[in-house]
Amino acid sequence: MCGIAGIYSHQPVASELYESIVHLQHRGTDAAGIMTYDDRMHKHKGLGLARDVFTKDNISLLKGNIGISHNRYPTHGEFGHGEIQPVWTSVPYGISIAHNGQITNYDELVEEVTVKGQRYLNTTSDTEVLLHILAERLTTFQNPNTSKEFFDLLCDAVTTVFNKVKGAYSVTGIIIGKGLIAFRDPRGIRPLVKGERSNGNGGKDYIFASENTMFYSMGYKPKGNVLPGELIYIDNYGKKFSKRLVKKEFNPCIFEYVYFARPDAVLNDVGVYRSRLRMGQNLAEAWKKKYPDVVPDIVIPAPSTANTSALAFAHEIGVRYSEGLYKNPFVGRTFIMPGQKERKRSVKHKLVPQETEIRDKKVLIVDDSIVRGNTSREIVRMLRHFGAKEVYFVSACPPVTHPCYYGVDMPTKKELIASNVEENVIKDILGVDILLYQEIDDLVEAVTRKGDHHIDNPCMACLNGNYNGTE
Ligand code: SF4
Repeated sequence: MCGIAGIYSHQPVASELYESIVHLQHRGTDAAGIMTYDDRMHKHKGLGLARDVFTKDNISLLKGNIGISHNRYPTHGEFGHGEIQPVWTSVPYGISIAHNGQITNYDELVEEVTVKGQRYLNTTSDTEVLLHILAERLTTFQNPNTSKEFFDLLCDAVTTVFNKVKGAYSVTGIIIGKGLIAFRDPRGIRPLVKGERSNGNGGKDYIFASENTMFYSMGYKPKGNVLPGELIYIDNYGKKFSKRLVKKEFNPCIFEYVYFARPDAVLNDVGVYRSRLRMGQNLAEAWKKKYPDVVPDIVIPAPSTANTSALAFAHEIGVRYSEGLYKNPFVGRTFIMPGQKERKRSVKHKLVPQETEIRDKKVLIVDDSIVRGNTSREIVRMLRHFGAKEVYFVSACPPVTHPCYYGVDMPTKKELIASNVEENVIKDILGVDILLYQEIDDLVEAVTRKGDHHIDNPCMACLNGNYNGTE
């Protein structure tokens, strides 16, 4: 999934880039990196959490007032030091980018970059290919004299990217001596928000990030989104240029609202917290319609992404909300762990049932989604072990039936429980008395109920198999 940020500031930017990726840590825990520039590039990156990769000393070496940062969650490419972003190339100018998403025509582009473009790829990362497509187009023009001329050149290069690169990509980038750039694929699948603050001198600082989760603490005011197909350029002197280069249907990822984004984020002008409350409300309405005579004793969220939906669900059906599963906050998110083995093992380590909330009770669990089914099955097994009388399981997300090719690790149909068996079989596999999934229309309603956004149709390819021809 990944988290990215890019900052133009009137002061050294490294510590704020670090703070940004700490606030985006939930989007990827494998690796972290920062790249800045003054008269040359400065980078530091490593495997693990941002707090483990960066120290006061290495941050102090990242000079400059312009830079980008990245949290890695691998969906394409091998897993090693070479794949850690930001990636960079020295020709032309010195360009570095951070990318969130996944490119679907990678093989075709590799051919173009290496055979036609005679460029060497140092990694198997799709981000490196994107970088070279961008760089190639910039190389074919002479160095312009003014920022406006350079922006025109950038528009040409990013339009080339939009025409050639399929899939999902939100990008922040730096170009030595030129400034900061941010752009988002024409369908706007992955999020990219923007913020501004006064620099106290009549000018402005700018931030672009996967989520606005760090804006408040860093003093930035949210200024909406980088639009799908839009390029924004902040030159070396803080002058801003922007243009929407391509206009297509706006299809942001609905799974950001279900699972990935932090609840305090506002993406595409929709508050994640509010959308999750509405998911809980809609699910409760469906429950009351389908099971009017079944009233659980207690509603427990599968912590912690489902907390908000569970709160609304419990309120709607008039049943006590309980934190009957304690989550150890020091164990990572199971879904973004790279291997199945790690995922399975961590469920037991991170969730501890509270017996007094469970024994002899009819327990209803609200989860954000059921992807592989392993976590859900393990939760049910623990509840039974701790004496639950009956176990009901509701999912705020409809059945996940198709892989994601846009940056979420749902690689094969074989791994997705709902793609292989019917709901009644899933109910038996999980070992629950009742299983209820959110309807697709109710999920869309929960995300788009508030009218002042520009979403045309959220991407739901993992739920309905509609990839708009770009898988
Ligand atoms: Fe998001 Fe699913 Fe679309 Fe992937 S396929 S971008 S997870 S909605």
